Amino acid sequence: DVPLIGSSVIPLINKLQDIFSPLGDIDNRLTGLRLPQVAVIGSQSSGKSSVLEALVGRDFLPRGCDICTRRPLVLQLEKCCDDGIGNESFEWGEFGHLPDKRFYEFDAVRREILAETEKEVGVNKGVSDKQIRLKICSPNVLNITLVDLPGITKVPVGDQPSDIEARIRNMIMSYIKQETSIILAVSPANADLANSDALQMAKEVDPTGTRTIGVITKLDIMDKGTDARNFLLGKVIPLRLGYIGVVNRSQEDINNNRSIRQALAHEEQFFRDHHVYRGLSDRCGIPQLAKKLNQILEQHIRNVLPTLKTDLTSHLVAVEKELRSYGEALESKGERGAMLLNILTKYSEAFSAEVDGKSQAMTTK
Ligand code: GDP
Ligand code: MG
Repeated sequence: DVPLIGSSVIPLINKLQDIFSPLGDIDNRLTGLRLPQVAVIGSQSSGKSSVLEALVGRDFLPRGCDICTRRPLVLQLEKCCDDGIGNESFEWGEFGHLPDKRFYEFDAVRREILAETEKEVGVNKGVSDKQIRLKICSPNVLNITLVDLPGITKVPVGDQPSDIEARIRNMIMSYIKQETSIILAVSPANADLANSDALQMAKEVDPTGTRTIGVITKLDIMDKGTDARNFLLGKVIPLRLGYIGVVNRSQEDINNNRSIRQALAHEEQFFRDHHVYRGLSDRCGIPQLAKKLNQILEQHIRNVLPTLKTDLTSHLVAVEKELRSYGEALESKGERGAMLLNILTKYSEAFSAEVDGKSQAMTTK
């Protein structure tokens, strides 16, 4: 499964890296190309983790249980072209709390996320703002950070404190208030969309909707006779970047091990067969969501390119200056030979003087 997110930007970034790499210090030079962070928000079980996984094209997140995501998961996708020992098609995960341990099995990644969650907040539904950092290295991704956040809940359960709602809201706010982050505001279509927690919070930090994408999940399980047409068209709560409707795997699909590839095929079929969504094909489906995200990321790269160009020009000026400081270039073979002879002569004179000095010093002792 090839991830959808970044598919249009990866070739562009690759090209830029090819240009920059002969200049050395590539990481520093590319900081300007660091892409914005994408934060996924919404109420509990709205389908946040499912959307993230579908975008990345990999199964590795705990999903489905009543409150699975109980700590922020900062997912750093990193493009690597081999695994350090020459294997070019390897993908692996590495956790911030387990440096140097590589996970090659995505099931094991999921188990580690669960174990690490329980270590911090216990088995009884506790929630913490302490991040879990997971880096996924793969030749098929681009350098981007995605954040999976705990869902908004209203009523405390298990070990949750009475102010659980305020705590989770503050935690989410700290991620989405950053001007550089893109907000995926996830709302399930089988609940009242006008009351969406995600859209309400996004509005607080991004009132003009310039960095919020509305994602409507569970279009497959809406009440019979209803559909999300007006919502997808932005007629209910307008958003400048608009809405995308998606169909992710149901709990039954997950229990039956339906793969992401199969799920995408099923989603496509669903939208194609639906009398309303058929006419809204540019607003429906995970591939459309990926396309929208890619457009935003491309725009971001376009915005930072002028700075990179300035950086390159000043680098060029500095290198030319350094080159001039080495003196005039020697063109002919004869000139270079004379120059070499000159250096050798000077060197041997200096060397003899040194040896003479030492032997004199010894005889006078
Ligand atoms: P999160 O709590 O927001 O991260 O939600 P999850 O991604 O864990 O999903 C919660 C539950 O909803 C899981 O059982 C998913 O299988 C199910 N689910 C998510 N999206 C959809 C969808 O589009 N359609 C259906 N039928 N189920 C979905
Ligand atoms: Mg989740």
